[in-house]
Amino acid sequence: MAGPMWAQEKPVIVTSFTIINEWVQVIGGKCFETVNLIPPQSETHGYQLSPRNAKDLRRATLIVAMNPELEPWLAAWAQANHKSDSVLWLYPEGSPTQKNNLGRNPHVWTCAPDVRRMTQEIATRLTRICPDFDAQSSYDQYVKEINRVDDELTRLFGSLRPDQRAFISQHPNLEPFAQHYGLKVAGTILASGSAESADPSAHHFSMLLSLIRNEKIRVVVTDAGQNDAFARRLTEDAGIPAPIALTFEYLEPAGQPGDTWASMMLLNGKRLHGALSQR
Ligand SMILES: [Zn+2]
Repeated sequence: MAGPMWAQEKPVIVTSFTIINEWVQVIGGKCFETVNLIPPQSETHGYQLSPRNAKDLRRATLIVAMNPELEPWLAAWAQANHKSDSVLWLYPEGSPTQKNNLGRNPHVWTCAPDVRRMTQEIATRLTRICPDFDAQSSYDQYVKEINRVDDELTRLFGSLRPDQRAFISQHPNLEPFAQHYGLKVAGTILASGSAESADPSAHHFSMLLSLIRNEKIRVVVTDAGQNDAFARRLTEDAGIPAPIALTFEYLEPAGQPGDTWASMMLLNGKRLHGALSQR
């Protein structure tokens, strides 16, 4: 016997990482059970599914993730388990909504217009699963929060002079953010997010050093928790301020600054602005 009717299980929504999990919780409310795969303070790059993750994925009504290139381990699991139809890629490959020239950079959760589109997509899909639930009005509320963050960052970065807008990042994650706020990622230390452990070459070091000198760059951004030895040597040799560590890749544990998308964006946006405006 399956138990009384009121104990009926809610649809399970599995999300790949913390930022998407927050969106699903905010928009889906108590209508769904959400399970998140990658814990707070951890990146998607190089992630490997645990047996526990696989168990959760198997009972998912819907799996929400960003992009097959960002979460290849999830795309591989879905294909091997014939669950590709259950995955909602918020930024699918070759997406017709790609209106910018970012190529295929999947880090679009740092770009407010993309976040508005992706959260609307979540609302639409959740409504299909649970038609009695008004996901659209949750979205309408949340979009005000997105706009508040976007307005504040637009105002903040709008105050920078043209010569204060370029920086170097550790891996190619901030193009969507930079492009939206009129900043420039002049170069990156790593060629991709999955090259985290690889050591950049001496040739790349001297190339970045010349770039810093020629373009008078003062800011190098690293990914918090990742090896920053290369970035430190670079800033020391260039005679510019030490690198600043940012956390655009994930949310912090609940109760800490940066534990929501809005807080993560403002926290890191203000840190970046602070570094860029000091010259
Ligand atoms: Zn990344």
